[in-house]
Amino acid sequence: MAAVEPLDRAQQLASFERLVSGCTRCRLHQGRTQVVFGSGNPEAELMFVGEAPGFHEDQQGFPFVGQAGKLLEKLLDGIGLKRSDVYIANVLKCRPPGNRDPQPDEIEACEAHLFRQIELIEPKLVATLGNFATKLLSGKQHGITRVHGTPQEATLGGRRVTLYPLFHPAAALYTPAMLRTLEEDFAKIPALLDREVAPPAPVVSLPVAAPEPEPAAQQLGLF
Ligand code: URA
Repeated sequence: MAAVEPLDRAQQLASFERLVSGCTRCRLHQGRTQVVFGSGNPEAELMFVGEAPGFHEDQQGFPFVGQAGKLLEKLLDGIGLKRSDVYIANVLKCRPPGNRDPQPDEIEACEAHLFRQIELIEPKLVATLGNFATKLLSGKQHGITRVHGTPQEATLGGRRVTLYPLFHPAAALYTPAMLRTLEEDFAKIPALLDREVAPPAPVVSLPVAAPEPEPAAQQLGLF
């Protein structure tokens, strides 16, 4: 059962958005037009996490409104979903200059915003678009080429969710083979939304052994 009531969720998300709109945690606030917080259905079971706002997102204040966004909408349409059914956010909430890659310190400064969004929305399935979102939310360094299309179990925002890595739509814009792969991976989303998320593995408590007496040399700080 959802831990947050719908009205509370929408209100809490809106007040969190107001808070984040004035964020100055990293250098990117200096060049932005506005914070691109995220948009969509606060009750969504499916949340997408991209990389960072680009030119159009920075201008309009919404994620994925450019070419990559049009493709994302087309892919959603292919599985019977609309933008308003899902929630869309990014790892970074402000546009990096010239659309360069997010820097590690920018991700570190911004990640708490994303984690709080996930905590408030309580999605069942979090689809990461591209390497940056996948590495951040999986906590692993495996590249997207290796892990795309394979669901993982993860604990995000204090809840078990299915993490589903996908290629970034921008990468598929001009590469037909990648577009086919993205379509195939998208086709698995409805079944993933239907399935139960596995509970966390039980914590096995082992009997605690009495501590070994320290060797005399260690007590003297020799190793
Ligand atoms: N690419 C992203 O990763 N996010 C956007 O919002 C737009 C393009």
